[in-house]
Amino acid sequence: MLHRASVLSAALSLLAGAPASAAAPADPSLYASLAALEARVAAIGFRLTTANAAWCPVQQPQFGWVWGDPRLYDADRRPEALAAYGAVDRDAPFVAALAPASPAAKAGLRVGVAVVGMQGRAVPDGADGHPFARITAVEIKLAALPPTAPLALDTGDAGAMNLTPVAGCVSDFRVEASEKAGAVADGRMVLVNQGLTEFAHDDDELAAAIAHELAHNILRHRARLDVAGVDRGLGKQFGRSARLFKQTEVEADRLSVWLLAGAGYDSLAAARFWTSFGQRKGRPLFQAGTHPNWRDRVASLETEAARIEAARAKGEALHPPLIDAPPPLE
Ligand SMILES: [Zn+2]
Repeated sequence: MLHRASVLSAALSLLAGAPASAAAPADPSLYASLAALEARVAAIGFRLTTANAAWCPVQQPQFGWVWGDPRLYDADRRPEALAAYGAVDRDAPFVAALAPASPAAKAGLRVGVAVVGMQGRAVPDGADGHPFARITAVEIKLAALPPTAPLALDTGDAGAMNLTPVAGCVSDFRVEASEKAGAVADGRMVLVNQGLTEFAHDDDELAAAIAHELAHNILRHRARLDVAGVDRGLGKQFGRSARLFKQTEVEADRLSVWLLAGAGYDSLAAARFWTSFGQRKGRPLFQAGTHPNWRDRVASLETEAARIEAARAKGEALHPPLIDAPPPLE
């Protein structure tokens, strides 16, 4: 879907900027629905990354949480936003969502609990003043820890906690309060826009969209496209850059079906989701150069699902394509 840093920055700025001193009264359900979607994404992300960990060449600790931060909201909207999580208004990141039966949930953490320290130190603050800077710094610090090493958390009022993570594929997960039907994978994070969920009829189909972005991160597409020197500007739509972007889209589609199957989701949910998405009204023509036609995508997704079914019918262990030796981007 969308991969440019500029798009990511623009998308992230929407959440921080949208609530700015609007004249109209806020709809409290806006934040409640955001929190509910974060809970779904936390559960799906934890399941996809941990169930498929053995396939992933690089692993990170997975705790089963999505982070929140009071800094994401302007002061006049902050109390209402924090109330959706049961979070107190203190300047600390907090747990915005928890996957059921995840290490964070089992340790007794609750949604809304603030985290003030990790490993005996204050949580990192983030460098650039962006509303997401602190969450990003926390995620990066945690992702660099050994995948199954215990983590000591200081939750301030709620006391000290020890969590033992589960090894998982690389990626943290976030939800963006944007109506734009999109998602982003930047190499270490998957960000899902609220607007994307309108095309997912159930959790299997939402998992299909998330698995596609997760596949980009597992296959290190962003870093490898950078090494290949692709044009992320206007030239993205043409020539070699377009061809390489399209190659990464096809690869992410193919791997996503196996990630679904590996985590016990319906492997045909990907074909269903991308059919709904491909048929949406007002889809941008500008992606024509970098993304396959949606019918071709769906055919490829159905082919992978059929391969998985054939392997299962023969009693073979599943092993996804591309993961051991992804074809070069050149
Ligand atoms: Zn993509």
